[in-house]
Amino acid sequence: MSQAIDKKSIPRQPMPEQEPEDRVRNFDEVPYGFTAELAKLEALRCIMCKNPKCVAACPVNIDIPAFVALIQAGKFLEAARKIKQDNALPAVCGRVCPQEEQCEGACVIGLKHQPVAIGRLERFAADYERHRAAVTIPELAPPTGKRVAVVGAGPAGLTVAGDLVLKGHQVTVFEALQEPGGVLMYGIPEFRLPKEIVRAEVDYLRKLGVQFVMDYVVGRNSTIRELLDEEGYHAVFIGTGAGLPSFMEMPGENLIGVYSANEYLTRANLMKAYLFPEYDTPPIRRRRVAVIGGGNVAMDSARTALRLGGDVTIVYRRAREQMPARVEEVHHAEQEGVKFRLLTNPTRVLGDRRHRVTGMECIEMELGEPDESGRRRPVPKKGSEFVIELDTVIVAIGNKPNPLVPRTTPELQVSKWGTVVADPKTMQTSIPGVFAGGDIVSGAATVILAMGQGRIAARSMDTYLRNGAVAESGS
Ligand SMILES: Cc1cc2nc3c(=O)[nH]c(=O)nc-3n(C[C@H](O)[C@H](O)[C@H](O)COP(=O)(O)OP(=O)(O)OC[C@H]3O[C@@H](n4cnc5c(N)ncnc54)[C@H](O)[C@@H]3O)c2cc1C
Repeated sequence: MSQAIDKKSIPRQPMPEQEPEDRVRNFDEVPYGFTAELAKLEALRCIMCKNPKCVAACPVNIDIPAFVALIQAGKFLEAARKIKQDNALPAVCGRVCPQEEQCEGACVIGLKHQPVAIGRLERFAADYERHRAAVTIPELAPPTGKRVAVVGAGPAGLTVAGDLVLKGHQVTVFEALQEPGGVLMYGIPEFRLPKEIVRAEVDYLRKLGVQFVMDYVVGRNSTIRELLDEEGYHAVFIGTGAGLPSFMEMPGENLIGVYSANEYLTRANLMKAYLFPEYDTPPIRRRRVAVIGGGNVAMDSARTALRLGGDVTIVYRRAREQMPARVEEVHHAEQEGVKFRLLTNPTRVLGDRRHRVTGMECIEMELGEPDESGRRRPVPKKGSEFVIELDTVIVAIGNKPNPLVPRTTPELQVSKWGTVVADPKTMQTSIPGVFAGGDIVSGAATVILAMGQGRIAARSMDTYLRNGAVAESGS
């Protein structure tokens, strides 16, 4: 049937989604996902390039043409299993990967038309499998008798755990928070990534035999050295992420009502402020909210504050085209009624006698010469200061690596930015048998990059556990 159709004449299929006026009143996921018919039609747009650039542009090299062909043929479960050969968290990645810069950015169809919606197809296949409870447990390799400790249950740690348990090793994941998932659970809001999906993917790992120890802070409850020398682990993976928020370092930032985006989103997600009044987490339900920053974290904070009843303004010091957030996120925020004050930089937070936020002084900016990032540098316009009245300020200007494990592991080599130094080919650190990956190595990055590094680490950890050493710079 596909022969008879001019594939290029099929437009990219829109994904049905909640109307903006409905969704600002709930935390349900915004896009509904493709139906089987839409997925097949969208899959038909793929021209099955001989040398598929999309695969090379995916950090874990998913065999995209193969799974898209299976969707074309209506073999949806097979498509999901094909993806899972390279990616253990497809329902997550289908939702949150920056596809426009990766697979879809390289799609040949995209040169003249809109690229094939690879991310939406990935999401469709993974959801199809999950909704039918058709997830199968593969056979594990025979037990090796080796024990591995994974520190941090984010995408990097979960990938390592899944890969190593399949290879017959005994894996325990130690996580500081009360639920596994890392940023997927405490950062990315429910309306973009339902928690039920993360839980399902974590449950799959439990079924494979991975053990989870929650509320366990490595560096406090025990150190990396103790895990190796006293607890009897044969290897350790550090996947502690970049959870240390940066602040503006401006006057008034310690007033009541100023939050880091991490704290704000953790209260909304893990402390279930989004289920108010069932869960009473009142301090974050505020009326006039400013979010400082222009990235995905800023958009997530703004859209969460909006749903919690706030009148929300994003304050960003550069122009719109320079916002690091995904275009889709900015579009969704705008549709929902988030206001944008671009080319504006905060200078101080104002408060009352009870130390509560009452406003924020800002200054207008204009674009000057390009800076080291290649973007035009924002320069303050003299005398353009003005005040916005507010009761809440959320600072979303970036995150740094979690410092606790490096601080309590003196032999661990760390860069000047606080990231753990690891060989990119093996992810082994300066301590033999200790590996690292994800944001703690790369600095704040993406889910799929964290998973890609987790995959490399798992491969070399397997070699290390079997042979007592990692092959020179990888293999
Ligand atoms: C709000 C927000 C939105 C984002 N949106 C996107 C997006 O749309 N798409 C995308 O690709 N990326 C997004 N990112 C980035 C992405 O989530 C991260 O790059 C990714 O989660 C990194 O994975 P990780 O496993 O390295 O670390 P994390 O996900 O940070 O997980 C680290 C885990 O380690 C635990 N931990 C830390 N220290 C210790 C310790 N000492 N002992 C035990 N446990 C510890 C933490 O509690 C955490 O659970 C977003 C990030 C944020 C903050």
